[in-house]
Amino acid sequence: MSARIIHGKALAASLRARVAERVAALPFRPGLAVVLLGDEPASIVYVRAKDRAANQAGIAAHTIRLPAATSEEALLTQIARLNADPAVDGILVQLPLPEHIRPQAVIEAVDPDKDVDGFHPLNIGRLATGEPGFVPCTPLGVMKLLAEARVALSGARALVLGRSTIVGRPMAALLLAANATVTIAHSRTRDLATECRRAEVLVAAVGRPEMVRGDWIAPGATVIDVGVNRLADGRLVGDVAFAEALTVAGAITPVPGGVGPMTIACLLENTLTAALRRRC
Ligand code: NDP
Repeated sequence: MSARIIHGKALAASLRARVAERVAALPFRPGLAVVLLGDEPASIVYVRAKDRAANQAGIAAHTIRLPAATSEEALLTQIARLNADPAVDGILVQLPLPEHIRPQAVIEAVDPDKDVDGFHPLNIGRLATGEPGFVPCTPLGVMKLLAEARVALSGARALVLGRSTIVGRPMAALLLAANATVTIAHSRTRDLATECRRAEVLVAAVGRPEMVRGDWIAPGATVIDVGVNRLADGRLVGDVAFAEALTVAGAITPVPGGVGPMTIACLLENTLTAALRRRC
């Protein structure tokens, strides 16, 4: 048996095209401000990709680049300026931040109505209670992939591997809202392989190259690999041993080309949503 591949690229392209169409029909241009501190190469690549995708969709995106030595106070002042700027609908501060800056202080400084990353505690609370807010882009993208692949979630046993505030926790909240029976596993989980093997839907977001082996996967399970890991030889792999999983799973996302492209597409959608909520 060979698992069905759930392609994120095609779905992301169609979502981006839909956002662009809706933006083109607006009497104004939604605005997205991306703040980047320092010159960490991976962050520069991510920020460029976000900026480019937003502008291609007709969103007025601009990146504010600040030196790595920028003080927390100066960064908070910059965020306050963006909060007050009526042309800015979405604000994204690229993580990770330099060590002298408290990420939580920065996340909490962003106006929750412009928090297109969905990291503000108010939006986390809204997600937990089922109120409309902003949902973090990566788990939102995963839900869209599951919907596109017509994976039945109601009543399904789902396991989320990883409990970060960016991916694991919101992912679990979304699966729960879709009526799955959700388990969250993490570094203290006992007998991880057995826990994984029970899952009909397995979402891996650990950041450990190919940690989830083929024999951790239940036959026919849907496997979503959020992990992005660069190996010493330059190859990009996920958290799941793809070739092994392919022979067991029912459906699986590849790395690259699975979850990754959906994250940016969902950022554009969140920015459009923010603009509509604020201005219409
Ligand atoms: P974090 O490092 O914040 O969280 C990792 C989680 O995995 C933690 O909850 C940790 O447990 C758990 N974990 C780590 N090691 C093990 C282990 N050996 N056994 C069980 N659990 C373990 O990572 P993120 O959530 O930010 O990212 C996860 C992955 O997803 C990374 O590869 C990242 O690059 C990728 N990613 C991809 C995105 C995309 O667009 N495709 C976007 C965001 C992230 P504990 O809490 O106990 O420490």
